[in-house]
Amino acid sequence: MATLGNAGSTREVLQRYRFNFQKKYGQNFLISAHVLEEIVNAAEIGRKDLVLEIGPGIGTMTQYLCEAAGHVIAVEIDANLIPILSDTLGAYDNVEIINKDILKVDLDQLVKRWGKPLKVVANLPYYITTPIIMGLFESRVPMESITVMVQKEVADRMQVGPGTKDYGALSLAVQYYAKPELVTTVPPECFMPRPKVGSAVIRLVRYEKPPVEVKDEALLFRLIRASFNQRRKTLANGLANYGAFSLTKEELAACIEELGVPAGVRGEALTLGQFAALSNIVYEKLKKL
Ligand code: SAM
Repeated sequence: MATLGNAGSTREVLQRYRFNFQKKYGQNFLISAHVLEEIVNAAEIGRKDLVLEIGPGIGTMTQYLCEAAGHVIAVEIDANLIPILSDTLGAYDNVEIINKDILKVDLDQLVKRWGKPLKVVANLPYYITTPIIMGLFESRVPMESITVMVQKEVADRMQVGPGTKDYGALSLAVQYYAKPELVTTVPPECFMPRPKVGSAVIRLVRYEKPPVEVKDEALLFRLIRASFNQRRKTLANGLANYGAFSLTKEELAACIEELGVPAGVRGEALTLGQFAALSNIVYEKLKKL
């Protein structure tokens, strides 16, 4: 049975180990059993599942995951938390704790021996949400879903479409790889210490095949980054200023015209389908050079 997941037991563990929160690691530990149950339920974890938890902290969510999953791999950067985790997870034999920076972990290597897809579950450190999510998608490691606590504003960005202020490179990248579903919003009182921002749990269910077809994925993402790099510029100017396409401003404008959108369009008005089509037009043009 999970023993953590409330303010009293969390405080007791922190005091016993004289643990000091490290702001630089985005440490906000969950103290709500209700939210923990919601996350684990939304992740649909069963006894056959291999789970990766990023940033287990003192092991609060890890306990819930160990109760539900077949095997849990927990990657924690803060060495001061490792002895605490050995203690709070001592009763479980289906967990392995790795003291590393998740951005430096070779995920392929880590999960290869299990021969099954991963389910990622985490209360993410907010300062590196985007690199973690992008790193997971780009890793090509077989992955069924990512169920994570993020800043509410980031959850919004992941779900929106063109024509909204939150729409950007993250929305497009997430929606290329996965179907986002908002699980719940979570107020600051559910954490210790309380974060300054609202939070939300989002579930990203990985597509077997992306919803759009592109000839060159790297080119698609370069186009997306270039388009949002200077949000206020027209798409043609934004792409030309980015300087990464070996095409003149006129050639880029011709590609945009071929796409069939107005010449002065801004990148933020394009759908994922339109970005994909544009990347295929640019791809063909580059091939002819
Ligand atoms: N899972 C715990 C919970 O819900 O109570 C803690 C979540 S806390 C928001 C984020 C955790 O990620 C912290 O334990 C922090 O030390 C860890 N962390 C921060 N940066 C990390 C990184 N680059 N790699 C692995 N863990 C990291």
